[in-house]
Amino acid sequence: MIEELRQSTNTGGIADKSHAVVRNYIDGKWVESLGKETVEIINPANGRVLGLTPLGTQEDVDRAVKAAREAFKTWRETPVIDRVQILFRLKTLLEAHVEELTELITLENGKTIGEARGDIRRAIQMVETACGMPSLLKGQVSEDIAAGIDCHAIRRPIGVFAAITPFNFPAMVPFWFWPFAVATGNTFVLKPSERVPLTQVRLFELIEKAGMPKGVLNMVQGGKEAVNAILTHPDIAGVSFVGSTPVAKHVYQTATAYGKRVQALGGAKNYMVVLPDAQMDSAVRTVLDSCTGCAGQRCLAGSVILSVADAYPAIEAGIVQAAKQVTVGDGMNPATGVGPLISKAALERVKGLIQSAADEGATILIDGRQAKDLPEDGYFLGLTVIAGIKPHMRIAQEEVFGPVILLSQVPTLDEAITWLNGSEYANTTTLFTSSGAAARKFSYEVDPSMIGINIGVPAPMAFFSFGGSKNSFFGDIKAHGHASVDFYTDTKVTVERWFKDSSIW
Ligand code: NAD
Repeated sequence: MIEELRQSTNTGGIADKSHAVVRNYIDGKWVESLGKETVEIINPANGRVLGLTPLGTQEDVDRAVKAAREAFKTWRETPVIDRVQILFRLKTLLEAHVEELTELITLENGKTIGEARGDIRRAIQMVETACGMPSLLKGQVSEDIAAGIDCHAIRRPIGVFAAITPFNFPAMVPFWFWPFAVATGNTFVLKPSERVPLTQVRLFELIEKAGMPKGVLNMVQGGKEAVNAILTHPDIAGVSFVGSTPVAKHVYQTATAYGKRVQALGGAKNYMVVLPDAQMDSAVRTVLDSCTGCAGQRCLAGSVILSVADAYPAIEAGIVQAAKQVTVGDGMNPATGVGPLISKAALERVKGLIQSAADEGATILIDGRQAKDLPEDGYFLGLTVIAGIKPHMRIAQEEVFGPVILLSQVPTLDEAITWLNGSEYANTTTLFTSSGAAARKFSYEVDPSMIGINIGVPAPMAFFSFGGSKNSFFGDIKAHGHASVDFYTDTKVTVERWFKDSSIW
């Protein structure tokens, strides 16, 4: 398996044939981590070990930051039109390797081949958008802000930035950050999820091939120790985080206490509201895909479906029927609709949440724990549909992160909005309707910052900005799009007056 991986990825990022320990990428070189402990990288479709992630140390982070700080001196002086040439070359390389990267994502994350292709395609869109940095980075000028005085504001890179990323989008999420940071003239340290580092290892090989100068982009493998070293490092100017809410809070509180800019994207509990005037067939398909795509392991996954009044019977019947048609299995198989969960622990956690719903009086319409014909060795759960959900239930409040659809009937749109605004999370929400007035009311009144109208996964594209509110986001400036230029630059304003020199003209 390891040799297969090595050949398929041609990876310099894997240190040792027998153990396939992934390496750090520091100062343009693949180097072994100083961490002695490792975490297994497991194929969730069959439980087999693909390799080992070393748990990097403070010293690993320090070496990466030193390289990034040194590289910043020349990188910030490199014209932005030259900086983005590397991204243009990378875009071409990524296009040539889409299928290989897709397989690698499915191998270590479990999502289906189609979903994995979407993961890498979204990463490529980030690179494409960052290629526009010469335009995005332009400043502002005003003449005569007072008599004979002009003012101009320019955006300047700040220094070394870092990102800490989750398991669920091995390719895309790290690319929410570094292309924008690097294109704006900063240098960077990435700490990918220790559970899915292989995709980034292969991507870094391609980044190296695209001609990224040494030290500009570095990668340190690891977990908690590496994260805490990043959060407290005196030479890191800002940190981007994506992951669960408790860790997002910790990252925000620690890194801001150390004087850094921070954007920390956390967990979610996403509600979908169906009005009786919705196109029901489309709503059913969209709900099913939103709640169960990527095995429910998306921060934009639908979770609780609030059907208003007469909308309920059609939604319940449609979801139950559609859920039974979905094939759960190895994501590598093109016939698979839903792949495994990331780990045994995740599987047990979701099963426990399903049991809690039954214990609290909900009705399990389809119990994925009882699903037949699931591959034995992986972390599979059949699609699960639960009705009679009430706001006080544990499963109605916690993020499930599994292929589970929760159904409830509410009397009015107002009641649905009150319920969803009562959640501690506010990442995304969707309304299904054919009424523009209802859509406007919904968008106006709901707390989540990413809203879908007849759209199940309203993910902002690379050229818009991404992030929720309340316990789904800690910080002020969101990810990618225009916001990333604000996050990665300081605005420097010069106010100037020049006196006439009559001896010259
Ligand atoms: P996680 O919080 O377990 O891990 C995320 C990162 O934090 C990893 O790199 C990990 O090494 C590090 N980490 C984990 N525990 C830590 C600790 N105690 N101290 C310091 N660092 C620690 O998240 P995950 O399980 O990898 O990802 C799933 C979560 O991510 C879900 O809650 C999901 O909603 C969220 N997510 C959010 C968004 C968003 O845009 N809001 C996007 C994707 C995923």
